[in-house]
Amino acid sequence: MGDLRFDGKVVLVTGAGAGLGKVYAIEFAKRGAYVVVNDLGSTPGGVGKSAKVADQVVEEIQRNGGKAVANYDSVEFGAKLVQTALDNFGKIDVVINNAGILRDRSFARMTEQEWDLILKIHLKGSFSVTKAAWDHMKKQGYGRIIMTSSPSGIYGNFGQSNYSAAKMGLVGFANTLALEGQKYGIHVNTIAPTAWTRLTESLMPPSSEKELRPEYIMPLVVYLCHDSCTENGGLFDLGGGLISKLRWQRTKGAVLREIGRDMRPEDVKEHWSTITDFSEAYSLKTNTESSMKTAEAIARIQSGD
Ligand code: NAD
Repeated sequence: MGDLRFDGKVVLVTGAGAGLGKVYAIEFAKRGAYVVVNDLGSTPGGVGKSAKVADQVVEEIQRNGGKAVANYDSVEFGAKLVQTALDNFGKIDVVINNAGILRDRSFARMTEQEWDLILKIHLKGSFSVTKAAWDHMKKQGYGRIIMTSSPSGIYGNFGQSNYSAAKMGLVGFANTLALEGQKYGIHVNTIAPTAWTRLTESLMPPSSEKELRPEYIMPLVVYLCHDSCTENGGLFDLGGGLISKLRWQRTKGAVLREIGRDMRPEDVKEHWSTITDFSEAYSLKTNTESSMKTAEAIARIQSGD
């Protein structure tokens, strides 16, 4: 099998000064891409800024013969990041929305500022960068976009209600962009990684460092962004070498309405085990399929079956 090359492609990686983003940036450059290494250089809690982290990654790429340029703006200002790609390389082909911070606290103690900050950086930041790149991708009929979600968003995690909300918001955002981008050759996929980085090292036992390397997340991200990959709208849970795709499941459910009879909360209680029984569950891919199921139920009710 030939190497997956990115010669001539322009790749913007946000938060590429450390952790996962740094590994992505270095790998894309090795594979021939022109890379914009964005990083604000803040602490894991989002305090302060420094040009150093992005500069170091750019230097490393250049030392190895690759092409890269640094950008130090926060992802809140997506147009500036995309402009760096346009000014230096003339276009934008791939956006990896990766930058992120944490403000963990149990919901009872969480302040509105902590909620707002996390949504601003993760969800609004990904919006801002993607929005700035979208029209360029649409015009050129090509684009690859990655959203970085989290198992904490998909499954929940104690002390991360703000982060979980932002990360699950990104899944919904990507679901719609995947539909809107398809006809323009823009593919949008979402990853929920687990890796040992400065963001997670205090939450993991030291033994995880060598088993949960960011290098085990990078291959999926690179593949999803390649020309040859047709995946669009996927959500992947991965870490430690395992890569899995997720999908929604819906129980067969129970139709509780009958013509000529009120539908009552007591009916829900009586049929709860059927409503929540996954033994005959199925997977739905689209909003239309979901509406069809509702329409089928209405038809059954009206025919008195
Ligand atoms: P990291 O702290 O090692 O790297 C994140 C980088 O983003 C830092 O270099 C930081 O300076 C930069 N950054 C922060 N705010 C920024 C902003 N406003 N604008 C530009 N850059 C900014 O963390 P990581 O673990 O590599 O995380 C990368 C992404 O993966 C994050 O979105 C994180 O939420 C997500 N994630 C990580 C894990 C994990 O296990 N490491 C799990 C789930 C999700």
